[in-house]
Amino acid sequence: MNPLWLLTALPAAWLLRRSWWLKDIPGLPVLVYHKIGNPPPNSSLKDLWVTPENFEKQVIWLKEKGYETISFSRLASMHKEKKPLKGNEILITFDDGYENNYRYAWPILAKHKSIGNIFVVYNTIGKTNIWHNPKTEPWIDMADEKMLLEMQESGWIEFGSHTMNHPKLTQIPYEDAVWEIRESKKQLEGLLKREMTAFAYPYGLGAYDEKIRKAVLDAGYVLDFSFTQGKTSWPWQREFKTIDRLFIKKNENLWDLSLHIKKGKSKVF
Ligand SMILES: [Zn+2]
Repeated sequence: MNPLWLLTALPAAWLLRRSWWLKDIPGLPVLVYHKIGNPPPNSSLKDLWVTPENFEKQVIWLKEKGYETISFSRLASMHKEKKPLKGNEILITFDDGYENNYRYAWPILAKHKSIGNIFVVYNTIGKTNIWHNPKTEPWIDMADEKMLLEMQESGWIEFGSHTMNHPKLTQIPYEDAVWEIRESKKQLEGLLKREMTAFAYPYGLGAYDEKIRKAVLDAGYVLDFSFTQGKTSWPWQREFKTIDRLFIKKNENLWDLSLHIKKGKSKVF
């Protein structure tokens, strides 16, 4: 193959893979992160780790571009009052409740006066991510009760539920799934003394299962978040679908972030 041809084709493929040529889509952008830090060498989910440096750059960029980071409770009241978006609202969410969220993400958010929202797995508070196979994804510390309370008191972090044990809700008996959904709301409200308005489905499982989704709504959650890449039109038609999210991966840059927010994804293939 002619090397000159490759010199043109590779950058072209890199560029075309990005979504810049798609139409902008309206709706609410909800970013989702997991771990802030550097992945351990044996992690099989390295993409889910964003370095504190990159995370801080992203938080600063959002601020500079005029985005307003909002909390679950604010979004819940916007939904209840059927308020439209001003257009610059964005949610920063974290799944699972890792200690590195406390160590790295929270100070960065507080420093830049930005709001984050963390979905907590109640039975793993102060423990580790035991739902992962430690051979492929090492067990690391989860935030403990003191950390959760400290973050909440700062006003820069709010919490939602991510069940009691992070199960695959569609693969356990229905009564157990209902318990995971209801009990985590009750326990988190007991601990944090605040209403838990938001729920995220572990692995996204249950977000499209009519019975499980009904259990989430019947439990009293106002907002439920899927694990599907995309944006959700607002005002939100809750009866039809969960709220989609934008996955920010390890090596994505600020251009990727802007594409996620405008186009609903940064890469087309
Ligand atoms: Zn999770």
